[in-house]
Amino acid sequence: MASYQTINPFNGQVVGTVELMTAAGIEQRLAAAESVFPQWAALSLDQRGDYLRNIAGGLRARRDDIQRTMTAEMGKLRREALVEIEKSAAACEYYADHAADYLKPQPIPTEAQRSYVIYQPIGCVMAVMPWNFPIWQVIRFLAPGLMAGNVALLKHASNVPGCADLLREVVAATGVPAGVFDVLHIDNEQAAGVLRDRRIKAVTLTGSERAGRSIAANAGDQLKKCVMELGGSDAFVVLDDADLDLAAAAAVRSRFDNAGQTCIAAKRFILVDSIADAFVQRFVETAQARVYGDPQDEASSLAPMARADLRDELHKQVRSSIDKGAKVLLGGAPVADSNAGYQATILDNVGPGMPAYDEELFGPVAAIIRVKDEAEAVRVANDTSFGLGGSVWTRDVLRGENVAVQLECGAAFVNSVVKSDARLPFGGTKRSGFGRELAGPGIHEFMNIKTVYVA
Ligand code: NDP
Repeated sequence: MASYQTINPFNGQVVGTVELMTAAGIEQRLAAAESVFPQWAALSLDQRGDYLRNIAGGLRARRDDIQRTMTAEMGKLRREALVEIEKSAAACEYYADHAADYLKPQPIPTEAQRSYVIYQPIGCVMAVMPWNFPIWQVIRFLAPGLMAGNVALLKHASNVPGCADLLREVVAATGVPAGVFDVLHIDNEQAAGVLRDRRIKAVTLTGSERAGRSIAANAGDQLKKCVMELGGSDAFVVLDDADLDLAAAAAVRSRFDNAGQTCIAAKRFILVDSIADAFVQRFVETAQARVYGDPQDEASSLAPMARADLRDELHKQVRSSIDKGAKVLLGGAPVADSNAGYQATILDNVGPGMPAYDEELFGPVAAIIRVKDEAEAVRVANDTSFGLGGSVWTRDVLRGENVAVQLECGAAFVNSVVKSDARLPFGGTKRSGFGRELAGPGIHEFMNIKTVYVA
């Protein structure tokens, strides 16, 4: 049987060995999902909500195990992992409490006696998820999905199988019927086969453009609905009247938390000339206080990247940007003698043609782009193939909102870093993907939005 090892990105040691599932193992899980679906869909929202509340309780009860596994498998700082677990638990409770609001029938007056829309579950949804938020990314899909009445099969990223198994255990411990949620330890070829199976009704992916092209093509070929949450290169626009202390502190959190491996991290810092030097000074000072170290250690404030190959790829993008004229203000190289560490890095004078301008930098590297005024800031913010999030910083909130509406992205924030929130729709435009997760639009993605018309 094929197997592979997972590696702790901080110390390079083997965390575990995972055996890929056999065809029989996959078949058993697909059959279980199909057979349990009618029973799960027939439960009341209160009954499904009780399970969700128990999942929240299970996440909290096992938070130390889960945190250690996240940290060992993908290098997340202990405190960041604990925040992620609590956010995931709270999202389960949120959907337990609020799914009824999102799912209630919508009357639409016509000439009929009655006409309205109802929301019905579709069956088993496949989730292909990434390693950067190994618990939250799954819960963001799973909590609304289970409340909708769907069942789910998770193909998690191959470097976080332990996180996937812990989630499965937490869900199973609530006593949900077998098959409501399970994990497939499979490679990408097997995943393609699962997606083609008639018992999978739709697929949701959070990951790279490369994965998106492959999965969306397969889903299209099968005429199955898909939601794509792909990469981003979010703009962080600092206007001339911004509170620079607030903006610089937020910039450092957004760019360097999670070792910069966040799709909605601020990546391109677009600064109007009049405040650029003052912002950069604060930004560099705050960023250089980040201390690389063991993610299990409370004193560490910069985590290793999740894999050495990802770190090496990032360094190539940095080198190429420097060769094309970017100026290193901080860092610019791997952490010496580390397995997958990369220094907190700030590049100035970034412009078109450089990877730091044109591509996603999925690691702790900030790109500074200087512009003359607000109009140029908006033009540069939109001069990207991505469209996930963006933020604007100004003391004049109306001015900020005016800029926010001009940003071509799925979420524009004023005086706040972009974040995902269980109450707000989340997703991108352009090459950042399509479809939404969370809130009304997210919960409805994988439902039959059905019109009923009584003449
Ligand atoms: P991937 O996109 O390869 O991984 C994300 C998930 O997709 C994993 O579960 C992976 O499985 C799966 N996957 C990849 N290709 C296929 C396929 N053809 N069919 C089915 N499943 C597939 O990301 P990487 O780990 O390679 O990271 C590379 C880059 O992706 C990052 O540098 C970043 O730019 C982007 N990324 C974006 C994320 C986001 O939050 N939007 C999250 C993670 C990465 P497996 O691990 O088994 O290959």
